[in-house]
Amino acid sequence: MAKRKNNSQRKPNKNRKRHGENNKPHHSVRKNQVNPHGSKKGQKTVTAEVTCKGFTSNGQGLVDWEGKEIEVPYLLPGETAEVAVTTNGKFINTKVKRVIKPSEDRVKPPCRYYFKCGGCQIQHMSNEAQGRFKQQTINQLMKPFVKPEKVLTMDHPYDYRNKNHTTYGLNKDRQIIGGLYAQNTHRIFDMEKCLIHDPKADEINQTIKGMMKSFKMQPYNEDTRQGFLRHVLIKVGKISGEIMVVLVAASPIFKGKNNFVKALRKEHPEISTILLNVNDRDTSIVLGGQEKVLFGKGTITDTLCGMKFEISPKSFYQINPVQTEKLYGRAIEMAELTGQDTVIDAYCGIGTIGLVASQKAGKVIGVELNNDAVRDAIRNSKRNGVNNARFYQGDAGEFMVQMANRNEKADVVILDPPRSGSDEAFLSSVVKLKPKRVVYVSCNPETQARDMKYLVKNGYDVEEIQPVDMFPQTYHVESVAKLVRKFVNR
Ligand code: SAH
Repeated sequence: MAKRKNNSQRKPNKNRKRHGENNKPHHSVRKNQVNPHGSKKGQKTVTAEVTCKGFTSNGQGLVDWEGKEIEVPYLLPGETAEVAVTTNGKFINTKVKRVIKPSEDRVKPPCRYYFKCGGCQIQHMSNEAQGRFKQQTINQLMKPFVKPEKVLTMDHPYDYRNKNHTTYGLNKDRQIIGGLYAQNTHRIFDMEKCLIHDPKADEINQTIKGMMKSFKMQPYNEDTRQGFLRHVLIKVGKISGEIMVVLVAASPIFKGKNNFVKALRKEHPEISTILLNVNDRDTSIVLGGQEKVLFGKGTITDTLCGMKFEISPKSFYQINPVQTEKLYGRAIEMAELTGQDTVIDAYCGIGTIGLVASQKAGKVIGVELNNDAVRDAIRNSKRNGVNNARFYQGDAGEFMVQMANRNEKADVVILDPPRSGSDEAFLSSVVKLKPKRVVYVSCNPETQARDMKYLVKNGYDVEEIQPVDMFPQTYHVESVAKLVRKFVNR
């Protein structure tokens, strides 16, 4: 079983996956590998004419070349193209030079940073083709179980992210820039607007960029460890309209902070709260330990599935609320609640799934590792007048082992682990607790399939799988599966 990872706010690394909490590189034997040492020794580039025969699970084209299957980014099945293939025998890197015969599914990516950024991987596919690609990927992964249902896609597959990080730095001309990291690099490129971000968040980022100049605020430099502002994290309540701005700085000494906050609020009266987060460590994690509220209450609230949720800077909240309602709706249906059941909401974050389920359950027990998220979950149950839900801080696996050892009872286990999936401690305890149903929500169907294999070996049947497109324009697909216990009297 894979090791668990905490849901820390991480700065994108070289294998940056925009929505994931853990940037595990996609497993594939056919990687479009780049020489990690950057060495040009023994390296040669040839131009090959290839025809794309399929997709990899991360949305790249798959072609045969010199007896090998290799990945070609931005190439679609059926397309013929001239491709530059660079190799030194160990590493293969490919780049489309010219598409000779384009696919009908090919569209001009609407984002002008698309090929530079890498945060989105399938914007060159029509929306319809993106849906087919995701369906194909999930169907392939779930072959050992049941045929997944039709992917629930999004009508307007842009502007959906309710959270984003922007990193600040200087360009070659020592001008302040703010944006994302260029693909496979640690180099920031200046960005005005990301088409999947909330548009308001990018407007605020543009204002901050301009204000840094007038306030003589220096961006932080990771190499020299000089400067002040590292990142800005913005969270938006899509329904409530509330906005949180977190200035992540290298030092707690913020000269002119009152004026800065005043000026930012003047430009954007819609901002509900502003925080300073201090991160002075040499780390890839975005948020540091110290937090100070500069304006407002330090959290925002949003409405999801008709309930109100309070969200802190560090707690996890699904980034696409429109699709989350569809996902949770299916998860609750799959749980088949009777009003009497004891439901475990494992990896519960701020308690969203559990609190929505509590309306149809006897009792809900939530467990979550992140302290801030647990505090939010407890507040959220009070705020929504829920009195049949309890939330606990801890490792979900350890918590379940304790429950199993105490012979406690659970009718339904809902789990929603991070990308790395669950672990043996958790899954073996589920088997001991013998819930009638397990509803497995996952942002990484590969680890979901791995964990479901364990449950299937140990007495469960997979009855339904519902894929949901939570992350349009990226290759990611979310999936919720219903597992039922085979032998009721075991
Ligand atoms: N169910 C929630 C959160 C899902 S994200 C929602 O839909 O919003 C996964 C959550 O698992 C994160 O909040 C993360 O902090 C938490 N987590 C990660 N590792 C964990 C562990 N070992 N035990 C319990 N929770 C964990």
